[in-house]
Amino acid sequence: MSDGSSFYITTPIFYVNDVPHIGHAYTEVAADVLARWHRQAGDDTWFLTGTDEHGQKILRTATANGVTPKQWADKLVAEAWEPLLATIDISNDDFIRTTEPRHEKNVQLFLQRLYDAGYIYTGEYEGYYCVGCEEYKQLSDLVDGTGQYEGQLVCAIHSKPVELLKERNYFFRMSDFAERLLALYEERPDFVQPESVRNEIVSFVRRGLTDLSISRQTFDWGIKVPWDESHVVYVWFDALLNYATAAGYGSDDEKFARLWPATHIVGKDIARFHAVIWPAMLLAAGLEVPRQVYGHGWLLVGGEKMSKSKLTGIAPEQITDTFGSDAFRYYFLRAINFGQDGSFSWEDLSARYQAELANGFGNLASRVVAMVTRYFDGAVPAAVEGAVTDAERRIRETERRVTAAADSAIDRLAVHEAIARIWELVDELNGYITEQEPWALAKDPAQAARLATVLNTAVRGIGTLAVLLSPVVPEAAAKLWTALGGAGTVQQQPIRSAWEWEGGARVEPLEALFPRIEVEATA
Ligand SMILES: [Zn+2]
Repeated sequence: MSDGSSFYITTPIFYVNDVPHIGHAYTEVAADVLARWHRQAGDDTWFLTGTDEHGQKILRTATANGVTPKQWADKLVAEAWEPLLATIDISNDDFIRTTEPRHEKNVQLFLQRLYDAGYIYTGEYEGYYCVGCEEYKQLSDLVDGTGQYEGQLVCAIHSKPVELLKERNYFFRMSDFAERLLALYEERPDFVQPESVRNEIVSFVRRGLTDLSISRQTFDWGIKVPWDESHVVYVWFDALLNYATAAGYGSDDEKFARLWPATHIVGKDIARFHAVIWPAMLLAAGLEVPRQVYGHGWLLVGGEKMSKSKLTGIAPEQITDTFGSDAFRYYFLRAINFGQDGSFSWEDLSARYQAELANGFGNLASRVVAMVTRYFDGAVPAAVEGAVTDAERRIRETERRVTAAADSAIDRLAVHEAIARIWELVDELNGYITEQEPWALAKDPAQAARLATVLNTAVRGIGTLAVLLSPVVPEAAAKLWTALGGAGTVQQQPIRSAWEWEGGARVEPLEALFPRIEVEATA
């Protein structure tokens, strides 16, 4: 984003029907690393997340729990969704709830504009409705039920029966936009990514679009249709607009003009809403379509998509309580190619924690700081001209190379690749220290210039790592930065020239960044 435009990134707003599992946390940390990277690069960055609080499913859950839907939403937001952000160290700039006046009022404004422009009409709709998806289903989206639902048609995602609904509703003329959407996908191949999701969206739209029923009359937990208060707005139509209302649509034109359009990070299962319905809505309103819609893969546990309804849900605290938030962030973004499905296992998490974080990065940092303390009494030695060899020049070259490579990967939202490139520096520095053997140099007074040069190079290298890894493992990077006597905070260091960081003259003791964990036999 060196063109001076802003970097506005969003997660989906999460449904307050239930508490978060690691699938939600995965989306959050991916968006967070991207936001932190851009912020640290000096880009005008804005990171939005929030909660989706309307709809029949929330109403039913609240009623079943003996409270009003608003009370239910308040409780879930306060007790589960906001705490999630602290648990995994999320740096969001805003948190929107769809029950806030700033949202409700401007959803009505948007809808009224579409109505006035002739994009909304009254019609009758009959179809199979999945309350879990909050969506009418095509027959091709349904499968035969099994077990207690044998003989019934069930939603392929939820494995629960669908309802045959007939409603007199307001419809959005989405079918008018099929051609313009296909032209958009064609002109801007990056608009929907990754490629697998893009292909699916393009073939879906090529089959033709039907108009979208955008109001409901059978329940009242939603935003009222402004010209007909006996209807509430369809929950997806309401929810998608959060990306605009939070950015100032209808309330702060200047802010909206600065931030919009956004990059939307979503799970691939809801890419269709974001890459078809949402841009059609924006085109109808005469607004710019999003910068990009990125549908990441699913987290699989035992081969099944992570979700509470499948009983495989794992709460993020189950991981952070043992391994810490940095390890959570690192693991999911490193182990899974962003954009593809990935399997979670405790064994893999534990193995990567030990090999990559504790032994690879943490131990490297501790050893370098300890050697400067032991051999130079904590004063960072200067490199001695004449004692610099190709080995040092290679390390310096790697620092520049991985910085550029990671930045380019971040631009493509390839978070896993950015981390892998940075890790090349971790591995090279470890190899460098093994080869140079500073402990052997320290025994020979004739090698004083080499010892100073080697440890200077190592300190420079781990400082560069602190700067580059700050978006991924912010706690560890901050501790290392303090130990190196770095200027200001590590988040203030320009990430695109990470190797130019300025440090203090001395190192301070460094506690283990990733302490050894005795893992009990976890299920
Ligand atoms: Zn469903």
